[in-house]
Amino acid sequence: MAIIGIDLGTTNSLVSVWRDFGPVIIPNALGKNLTPSFVSIKEDNTIVTGQAAKEMLITDPENTAYAFKRTMGQRYFYSLRGRDYSSIELSAFILSSLKRDAEKFLGEEVTEAVISVPAYFNQNQRRATQEAGKLAGLKVERLISEPTAAALCYGINEQPDMKNAIVLDLGGGTFDVSILEFFEGIIDVKSVSGDNRLGGEDFTKSISAWFLFENKIMGDLTPAEIAEMNKVAETAKFKVSDKTNPQPAEMAMTIEGKEYRSTLTPETFSAITSDLVMRLKSPIKKAMNDAGLHVADIDSVILMGGATRMKCITDFAEAVFGDKVISRINPDETVALGAGVLAAMKDCNHDLKETVLTDICPFTLSTSVLKSLPAPFSTNTDGNIICDPIIERNTPVPVSIVKRYYTSVPGQKNIRVDVYQGESMIPEENLSLGCLDSEVPYNKKEHEAIDVRFTYDINGLLEVEVTSVSNGYTKSMVINQGNADLSDIEIAEARKKMENLKVLPWEDEENIAILEKAKRLYQESIGEQRKKILDLTTVFETALAKQIPEQIREMREKLERIFDDYDSEIW
Ligand code: AMP
Repeated sequence: MAIIGIDLGTTNSLVSVWRDFGPVIIPNALGKNLTPSFVSIKEDNTIVTGQAAKEMLITDPENTAYAFKRTMGQRYFYSLRGRDYSSIELSAFILSSLKRDAEKFLGEEVTEAVISVPAYFNQNQRRATQEAGKLAGLKVERLISEPTAAALCYGINEQPDMKNAIVLDLGGGTFDVSILEFFEGIIDVKSVSGDNRLGGEDFTKSISAWFLFENKIMGDLTPAEIAEMNKVAETAKFKVSDKTNPQPAEMAMTIEGKEYRSTLTPETFSAITSDLVMRLKSPIKKAMNDAGLHVADIDSVILMGGATRMKCITDFAEAVFGDKVISRINPDETVALGAGVLAAMKDCNHDLKETVLTDICPFTLSTSVLKSLPAPFSTNTDGNIICDPIIERNTPVPVSIVKRYYTSVPGQKNIRVDVYQGESMIPEENLSLGCLDSEVPYNKKEHEAIDVRFTYDINGLLEVEVTSVSNGYTKSMVINQGNADLSDIEIAEARKKMENLKVLPWEDEENIAILEKAKRLYQESIGEQRKKILDLTTVFETALAKQIPEQIREMREKLERIFDDYDSEIW
């Protein structure tokens, strides 16, 4: 029985399996390699996943969930049709549909999988992913970190002279950097860094802003206009940033009956996005510093994530790392293919030794202090209140560090210890995790000494303890960074909940996807086009009712062509 490799992504998921000479991606019921990580529950309690659910985000947003990977490992619930679902359960629906695609493809039952997770996922998030696998009926013996999977996909681990690799993953909304070290068959994730506010969408937004400015379009756009602007800008982005042949892109859009046009050249695109490209530098530097490496130590640079298809990103990577940059494999498929390699290794009882820095504190934890700073560092915040790191990022956990501070003025009676997560010196730019107020012994003449201890344990619990040095008075509090573990009772309940839901027959998935697309297009269009969509849908439903497979297929393909044309017209 084959073991499958799964890339459980934030926006799209993929499944792969080893065939004769290498891993291949298994297509879904719609014949596509990418399955959107979207889940929707219909009125009759049918679970819809993938492309059809993505369409339902527009037609039935209240009962559709997406991007739930972001809350993996947290006690966060999505309400669909009046019931709460955790990210574990929603991920389980996606995994179930991938499992089914694999079973159809292989013609046998599939019960085991290797699933990829981001390198920065902590123990909670990893356990939650395994739990999702279990709910979907998959034994998940191994999780593989995404950068390691990318390295396996390129076979880097088998190259004898390979010591260090850096993986640059630029997706739609985030940029992740990981440094891998190879040593005697072991892959070690040495450091991770990133910018969770930088991704391909920012390049699209820059184009939109440029277009609106060029055309002097002021004021707020309606949600539909924003969506249209986005689509126009993304299409232009693909053209001007093409790796082999960047071309000027004609952009046009109609607002309140008036048509606006502009031509975006590759040169203008480069000028308006150069600041975004420069932002790639800092996380790369951070990851290299944390791993104690210099550019010359890097033997290989792997590019992954859809946005690394842009010429400016490859040019940037090549400017920094020279000819060590590799990107020949489709960046959407690298991780799934790598997971497939590990699945095959497991199948033959050759496991890979991977030590992952899971047990690290991925972000710096600090408290705010009043400090006079040299002019270049001077912040605009009140009286130079800055974050003073207590636990630095990438510190192995469990860890307990104490730092001594002093009251700002003699006679001070209280102190407040603010706790921040993040790398900025400016408190407002970091994530505030909470604060602990404590009394200080009254001392009219001198500053009182206070010890602040941060203890970070393996489960993501951060304990903050404040001790007044002069009298030993201690106060503490615990900040839970999110513990997702479902109790055994909750798991049993989740299983029951799943049993009560209906699953679409695999053969029907394509038909449901096209019907959902028809519904969305109907909402988005007007007049004659609406009528045409309704007529076509009625004819298709009649074909479905007759249950003649050949007729259904022909009709569906016709609808797909017409609807694709409508889509490009509407946008
Ligand atoms: P991912 O999350 O890895 O699927 O990446 C999504 C991002 O990649 C989006 O911002 C897309 O616009 C961008 N992207 C995908 N394909 C291309 C392409 N051919 N050229 C430029 N950007 C792309």
